[in-house]
Amino acid sequence: MDRPAIIRKTAADLRLPPNLADYAATRAAFSWDAVRAELAGLPGGRLNIAHETVERHAVGPLRDKAAFRFLGAHDTRDITYGELSRLTNRFANVLKSLGVGKGERLFLLSGRIPELYVTVLGSFKNGTVVSPLFSAFGPEPIATRIKLGEGAVLVTTELLYERKVAKIRGELPTLRHVLLVGEEGRATNVPGTLDLATLMAQASDEFDIVPTGPEDLSLLHFTSGTTGTPKGAMHVHGAVATHWATGKYALDLHAEDIYWCTADPGWVTGTSYGIIAPLLHGVTSIVDEADFDAERWYRILDEQKVSVWYTAPTAIRMLMKAGAEIAKKHSYPALRFVASVGEPLNPEAVWWGKEVLGLPIHDNWWQTETGGIMIANTPAFDIKPGSMGRPLPGIEAAIVKKESDGKVSPVDTADTEGELALKRGWPSMLRGYLHNEERYRKCFAGEWYLTGDLAKRDADGYFWFVGRADDVIKSAGHLIGPFEVESALMEHPAVAEAGVIGKPDEMVGEVVKAFVSLKKGFEACEALRMELLGHARKKLGAAVAPKEIDFLPSLPRTRSGKIMRRLLKARELGLPEGDTSTLEGGA
Ligand code: ATP
Ligand code: MG
Repeated sequence: MDRPAIIRKTAADLRLPPNLADYAATRAAFSWDAVRAELAGLPGGRLNIAHETVERHAVGPLRDKAAFRFLGAHDTRDITYGELSRLTNRFANVLKSLGVGKGERLFLLSGRIPELYVTVLGSFKNGTVVSPLFSAFGPEPIATRIKLGEGAVLVTTELLYERKVAKIRGELPTLRHVLLVGEEGRATNVPGTLDLATLMAQASDEFDIVPTGPEDLSLLHFTSGTTGTPKGAMHVHGAVATHWATGKYALDLHAEDIYWCTADPGWVTGTSYGIIAPLLHGVTSIVDEADFDAERWYRILDEQKVSVWYTAPTAIRMLMKAGAEIAKKHSYPALRFVASVGEPLNPEAVWWGKEVLGLPIHDNWWQTETGGIMIANTPAFDIKPGSMGRPLPGIEAAIVKKESDGKVSPVDTADTEGELALKRGWPSMLRGYLHNEERYRKCFAGEWYLTGDLAKRDADGYFWFVGRADDVIKSAGHLIGPFEVESALMEHPAVAEAGVIGKPDEMVGEVVKAFVSLKKGFEACEALRMELLGHARKKLGAAVAPKEIDFLPSLPRTRSGKIMRRLLKARELGLPEGDTSTLEGGA
């Protein structure tokens, strides 16, 4: 179906006055110092994320407002800002009583249960650095990360400990304490561990936040491992300024919002935007403890009256795959803004939002390394489906070219492909890769942080993702971004997901090969393959269209939902698969 290249916004599309109404004026007037002045801060120029997110509200009018609403298997539990303050004080006291100090590292391995959120924020209060792990990781990736991070404490559940950690405990000499959450609230009694609930009950609910400065470490987040071995990105308390500004401008949070971020805190989106940004803005966050289920998700959007929803392309594609009928069983009158991050958002998905939810999906771009949203479509922006939007206030983004001497310079001409770079110095920029100084140094060239993603900027200042530098296909003198090919395939009604790779070829360098999974009701067959090849050729032209298409029941993805093209390629070529620690369904 041919659709307009731009979705124009009118006043009727905005149910609340947008926080970013005048893009140019807000950018021009913006300063990070002014944002820092909006934060409460601690005496002596100190700053602590837990103070900004929790304490500040717990002593004010938001004290009895729900900070989180946990949707469990059987029940719903609200935790107010006041309660969150007391619980996190208790947890900080638990750490203190165990002799865990500032700068030491605590690892977290659990589902999205209240204890996870209390642990993260309580650790901040104690100056302890948190490293959340995805709960579906197997023993091997857990051990690797705890070893690399020299973890002093692990907070996990009894079940996860017995299944995954007990057998590797002997390999983790730095781990002094393991705190367990019992199943269904029962106390635990596992040798070599402590029962968290018992310690919490004994601890005081008053605590003086350990004085942390803006440059003190807060979080250690491992990247998704889409392109190779995950890197441990180190973040600081001062990052909270970015979370405040992006919560305001990119997510457009308003005090009365009911906000749902579907990302797991095992990934940076789940902490930056599942914990920190919404609390900063005093909104109520929905936390769904269960895994993805299309029916359940539509019900949550409806019943919880979600107004701002932050999700990911992989989830949207799964909803698309499940069919629009399920969506129609519900209605979403409260929903006013939907945003997505993590992977390129195919235009098809943007339009799907408009048709099924009544709102287009707003793509935004960032990385574990950037700590927060950098480029975004915000409520007041016209959307160009397929574009990531424009750099937020305070963010200078450019397409850069590398010179022969290693220096980089911005490319001024519109629509030129090149590496996406950001002017260094925004508050949530990573401060290092753990134990990998050299890799960290390579991220910078002069004043520019190099993202490793290829993109282009159009004449209106919108950025368009082309592909990761590693994934770009060189075919007969053309540079082909997989995203373009995947988006064209997604426009075919049978296609649920597409992943595109370059397959070495003697004649042309690489030929484009696509892997697709199909929507419900479609069968993989030769006729459909021919039809898809023809469809792609018509959309893209013969030079860019795939020469080969294979059907797969589903594509290999990271646990954070990204298509692992490197794995499609390795499998196609019979090469070693490399680090698969983050592969969904893997060990
Ligand atoms: P690794 O660095 O370990 O290979 P990763 O880069 O996937 O993993 P993340 O930091 O979770 O780890 O993901 C950031 C990357 O995700 C970006 O560099 C980009 O390639 C992709 N990405 C995120 N948002 C978008 C978006 N809106 N459009 C296109 N790509 C995106
Ligand atoms: Mg990366």
